[in-house]
Amino acid sequence: MIPFNRPPVTGNELPYIEEALGQGKLSGDGPFTERCQRWFERQLGCERAFMTPSCTHALEMAALLIDVKPGDEIIMPSYTFVSTANAFVLRGARIVFVDVRPDTMNIDETLIEPAITEKTRAIVPVHYAGVGCDMDVIMELANRHGLYVIEDAAQGMMAEYHGRPLGAIGHMGTFSFHETKNYTSGGEGGLLSINDASFVKRAEIIREKGTNRSQFFRGMVDKYSWVGMGSSYLPSELQAAYLWGQLNCAEQIRDNRLAIWARYHQAFKSLIASGTVDGPILPEATAHNAHMYYLKVRDLEERTALIDHLKQAGVMAVFHYVPLHSSPFGQTVGRFHGEERYTIRESERLVRLPIWYGMPEEEQERVIQSLLSFFD
Ligand SMILES: *Cc1c(COP(=O)(O)O)cnc(C)c1O
Repeated sequence: MIPFNRPPVTGNELPYIEEALGQGKLSGDGPFTERCQRWFERQLGCERAFMTPSCTHALEMAALLIDVKPGDEIIMPSYTFVSTANAFVLRGARIVFVDVRPDTMNIDETLIEPAITEKTRAIVPVHYAGVGCDMDVIMELANRHGLYVIEDAAQGMMAEYHGRPLGAIGHMGTFSFHETKNYTSGGEGGLLSINDASFVKRAEIIREKGTNRSQFFRGMVDKYSWVGMGSSYLPSELQAAYLWGQLNCAEQIRDNRLAIWARYHQAFKSLIASGTVDGPILPEATAHNAHMYYLKVRDLEERTALIDHLKQAGVMAVFHYVPLHSSPFGQTVGRFHGEERYTIRESERLVRLPIWYGMPEEEQERVIQSLLSFFD
């Protein structure tokens, strides 16, 4: 069976993990975490980058940082992972879902403004498949209405919008290093990028269990104490060491995925041209990172048949999010604003094909042939 995903392994991870084992410190914010964070600050051009145990935790930190209060409204697409919403629901917020664009599956930027009320605090665009949302429009209307923008860039590392890294455009950005993402810190991990400097000091405190321990270690205070609300949002040095083994070849990983993506796209060109399926669409402003290769078939029924057919041929293909507003819990914590035209219909058509760093050519060829044979 060709799996849908294999966690990225470059071969550089073990030596760094051994180095971490020898350094006499394994808890958070050691030398490897520092190295990774400085790398991200350069790469993203952000004010500060904080590694976290997951993207879920980075989103929770963002919700704490903007001080979400019960009853506040947060605007986001319904076509996303539960964590995008949960982080704000945990603080008592109401979620206002807005429809997606059928071309990118990203939030439709033209539908955000009508969903804004006096309770709206933030917009959370999700860069689906590492393809950027229309951030110029989103930032302009957020500034005009005094709203925060937190980019869920879980899938967006090393991708760009108008030449700017995803996750570095809004007030904050969140990334995932889960094993299904382009880069992993050993299975689980995340990052919070802070682009608005005014959040840095509180972010350090929230991340360090509500203490000013970071200031203490820098010699800025002579003892550390409990100064605010917080939790434990530091990953272990072993996770940072694993990730460091990937950041060294971040471009190589991205370029390898882009080559696999391009090969799929070439192979399915005539299926797309004949209208048999729809392929992924990349707006001109975006430079993606090949996080995902998906096709859209006619409807749910055809998708089920295709996934079955691929399974018979030994190929594991998967679908994606069940829209949050249609889930039992989603209905109790949020509402859908405006007409729901595309979210359910387009999500039911979408099928994701296996793609991972180092995927052998013959496995890719088998995926291609099995898919083509379904439509023959
Ligand atoms: C993967 C993902 C998350 C969650 O990431 P974790 O690191 O597993 O917490 C959140 N949002 C989106 C859009 C994701 O794809």
